[in-house]
Amino acid sequence: MIFDYVVIGAGFAGSVIAERIANTLNKKVLIIEKRNHIGGNCFDYYDKNGILVHKYGPHIFHTQMKHVWNYISQFTEWYTYTHYVLGYIDNKYVPIPFNLNTLEQLLPKEKADYLKEKLIQNFSENVKIPILELRKTDDKDLQVLADFIYQKVFLNYTRKQWGMEPEELDSSVTARVPVYISRDNRYFQDKYQGMPKNGYTNLFERMLSNKNIEIMLETDFKDIIKINYDKKKIYFNKNEFKGKLIYTGEIDAFFEYKFGKLPYRSLKFNFETKNKDYFQEVGTINYPNDYKFTRITEFKHLTGQKNVKTTIIKEYPQKYNKDKDIPYYPIPQRENLELYEKYRKEAENYKNVFFVGRLAEYQYYNMDIVIDKSLQIFKEKIANE
Ligand code: FAD
Ligand code: UDP
Repeated sequence: MIFDYVVIGAGFAGSVIAERIANTLNKKVLIIEKRNHIGGNCFDYYDKNGILVHKYGPHIFHTQMKHVWNYISQFTEWYTYTHYVLGYIDNKYVPIPFNLNTLEQLLPKEKADYLKEKLIQNFSENVKIPILELRKTDDKDLQVLADFIYQKVFLNYTRKQWGMEPEELDSSVTARVPVYISRDNRYFQDKYQGMPKNGYTNLFERMLSNKNIEIMLETDFKDIIKINYDKKKIYFNKNEFKGKLIYTGEIDAFFEYKFGKLPYRSLKFNFETKNKDYFQEVGTINYPNDYKFTRITEFKHLTGQKNVKTTIIKEYPQKYNKDKDIPYYPIPQRENLELYEKYRKEAENYKNVFFVGRLAEYQYYNMDIVIDKSLQIFKEKIANE
């Protein structure tokens, strides 16, 4: 079979583009995926107790983008779910992101009231402030508060998660979980949030159900596709490939690491099933200062599933070794982004190859951003030509 479109990777980036090619262009498309399943890091399955779990860590869907929500809603109904996170701090379970309720729960009332007023005066209500910004305040009392939050919420969590100090990372990393001058305890404030009613894998199956889509699992693309880096040509089954290639794996791997390896952070997951209805009060509890894991998530909270047992997942951050680990997180630091930039420039020489997604763009993207980018690339670069 000859394909005009070949997609590497069956995560959101690859699946959105394959779905668009098959359903709107009515063209045949081949997806090559090295794992034994579709869905990329969003893959979920029923464990041996019949509980729906996320193999590669907990995934909660949330977005501000109506077009992304409408697009993805073609392939799933939703379980209405709002994500709440507590942090275990000073022997208490308190709301994360750190907000006015957290302040009251961790500090004596008089002090909390005083600092609350100061925060509102200095920044006004319903404002989100990244912790590294709050630490720059001129106000002496707020400096002490910022230091407290930094020490209790961010410092040790970030050391565990990334193996470095918060200041060593791009400020956007800790800004994902800002200090929130509000009583809103939700982890995300996005207008659209929820969980695919029958799980992510089912959503992907529905996305990829068109007969125009062929999927080859357990196949590394390098077994089938050869690249002549001097001539900048792609060969598919030994013939020059003149169609469009959409690549969603690590960009440094595509170029055989010619400029050096891009660093990633990995994780190990520990799943535990408990003989009880529920293990914890909310979906996720963060442990900034205790244990080697960063957080525990209980799937039944996320999915609303009923079962006499419950399964939890603990996340243990790890160094990344390219030969045996999964590259879960690109590491947002200036030198890494500079290295990525070299690959991005090199990629521009390949006019019929499109690099999309968290790994191919080396960006700390959430699912909704990946879907948005993929729709954009499809519209601008694939459907138009
Ligand atoms: P991936 O899902 O990684 O897909 C890439 C695919 O390419 C993989 O299946 C891979 O096997 C395949 N591939 C790579 N190389 C090759 C090769 N050589 N040959 C063949 N196939 C190859 N986002 C949210 O919005 N909400 C969340 O709650 C959330 N939680 C997360 C929790 C964790 C622990 C992690 C790590 C991420 C989380 N994310 C979350 C982010 C989300 O996982 C990503 O945005 C999304 O999965 C990226 O999709 P992708 O298609 O770019 O990449
Ligand atoms: N973070 C933290 N303490 C927390 C939660 C988050 O220090 O209780 C920091 C940490 O550096 C983390 C980053 O904020 O890596 C982003 O957190 P998020 O929950 O968005 O991470 P993800 O879900 O992507 O792993």
